[in-house]
Amino acid sequence: MDQAAQTRCPSILSPSSRSVSPPRGPGGLCRLLPGLLVPLVLLAAGCGPDGELWRGEADTAARAITPERLMAHVQALASDAFEGRQPGTRGEDLTVDYLEEQFREIGLEPGNPDGSYVQTVPLISYTPRPSARFQVAGETLEPSFPDQYVARSRHFEPETVLEDSELVFVGYGVVAPEYDWDDYKGLELEGRTALVLVNDPPVPHPDDPERLDPDVFRGEAMTYYGRWTYKYEIGAELGADAVIVIHETGPAGYPFDVISGAFGGENFDVPAADVSDRLITEAWVDEGTARRIFDAAGHDFDELKARAAGRDFEPVVLDGTAEFRIETELREIESRNVVARLPGSDPELRDEHVIYTAHWDHFGVDDEGNVYNGAVDNATGTSGLVEVGRAFATLSEPPPRSVLFLAVTAEENGLLGAHWYVENPLYPLERTLAAINMDTMNPWGRTNDIEVIGYGSNTLEELVETEAAAQGRMVRPDAAPELGYYYRSDHFEFARVGVPALYTKGGVDYLGQPESWGEERWARWTAEDYHTPSDTIGDDWDLSGMTEDTRLLFRVGYRVARAEEWPRWYEDSEFRAAREAMMDQASR
Ligand SMILES: [Zn+2]
Repeated sequence: MDQAAQTRCPSILSPSSRSVSPPRGPGGLCRLLPGLLVPLVLLAAGCGPDGELWRGEADTAARAITPERLMAHVQALASDAFEGRQPGTRGEDLTVDYLEEQFREIGLEPGNPDGSYVQTVPLISYTPRPSARFQVAGETLEPSFPDQYVARSRHFEPETVLEDSELVFVGYGVVAPEYDWDDYKGLELEGRTALVLVNDPPVPHPDDPERLDPDVFRGEAMTYYGRWTYKYEIGAELGADAVIVIHETGPAGYPFDVISGAFGGENFDVPAADVSDRLITEAWVDEGTARRIFDAAGHDFDELKARAAGRDFEPVVLDGTAEFRIETELREIESRNVVARLPGSDPELRDEHVIYTAHWDHFGVDDEGNVYNGAVDNATGTSGLVEVGRAFATLSEPPPRSVLFLAVTAEENGLLGAHWYVENPLYPLERTLAAINMDTMNPWGRTNDIEVIGYGSNTLEELVETEAAAQGRMVRPDAAPELGYYYRSDHFEFARVGVPALYTKGGVDYLGQPESWGEERWARWTAEDYHTPSDTIGDDWDLSGMTEDTRLLFRVGYRVARAEEWPRWYEDSEFRAAREAMMDQASR
């Protein structure tokens, strides 16, 4: 038994590992025994029948991840030579070649069953030029693009036309079985355009109307039901022509300008197998335009909004129709996910996978020749991915299950490489146990904590807690759950379809720094460097903290790859139903 194995189990039970984050449910045996006086021999064996053996192995393999190796990849990927790693450019070719070479050198197999290290990802560039008109109770409203509304069609035709589509107000447009919530109440949506409020339904606390009820849509935290992408998806699923999201600056968290900027120009997507599953039109209107529509239809917007915050809300058919004509400029680009694999040692479990993801892409070079090096975002995560691969390849015997290392493209354009993988998985998703994502890792030294984004979602966080405790660290729950970061990086594409997904961020409690230093450092990075050409390697970089985080994520995935129990979503997670449906379908 090596020394680390002797100390690990007791530290799992230490109070420091539990103070921030109480257990959410039964995890391993260790989690069931807090507070008991457990004989040391049970502790040593308590994390698995062959506890010491695999732990020693994991320690040795984890030590292959070093600050020097991590830095070498970041230096290469974030160098000007890689031209900002934009999909469809020479920067892509260099990046894909680099990653392929690294995976091969490490000794990982090609991840694509076709024998290659790449998965081709077709990207579509589209620029919509819409015109919109609403006929409401005899009144004609024509808002202006893009400052009062935006609209797009992802049918990818040079022109799409939607006429005479009846307007209905569907509140927050949420169907959430786990909260016994359905805003549509069986409403027929064919031939109709749904007007929908942004965000989760703000359900007041039963005892304190000033606060939100934490038991419904997780209170102040944003669930996926609050995201505008969800509103389009559910509307399409229910057969609507179009969904119009009503923008309000407060609940959205950003002004309408942001929507105009994001939707008004060039957008990217991947082709769909069948575009008829999609809405004909996806739109936003600003609050003023929405109020004019409701006024003309003889409804009080504020009163309807108040009703929509309740479970008993019934959709309202408005006396009006929508018309959208959208011309779309189209261009095709071919990009690539890079994928490597370590086959599992157990033939029975080899078709089960743990997936690690990190996006390799960034924004390229601008018109003035400034390179968007994307050192933190996301040369760090890509480097971490390669080095987790190395740690796995170092094991004397691979875990029973297989491990996939997936460097995805076009995250910055809307998680498109990850989306493409999930829609076209190389290995069955119902036998994919977990997706572990690395994006924007910590470059400024060691921390006492590690943040779990979307804390409270699934049992993977319990493994993070265990492994953080083994490093003498603590888990910090998502610091800003209302901002919905869980929905903004590649792991989310896996979560959306039901695969338990983990996204951690470097902590903020830096060793040897004053208390607020970490938060201030990240805030400064976000304000000055995030998505700008100044996201480069700084003089103050120290990858010792990133090394710890990467080792931790290696160990979490290693546990999943050999554990008896599969990771699962917690009862109240919005992704639990998708996982159950997926498993159900697979077993048929
Ligand atoms: Zn980014």
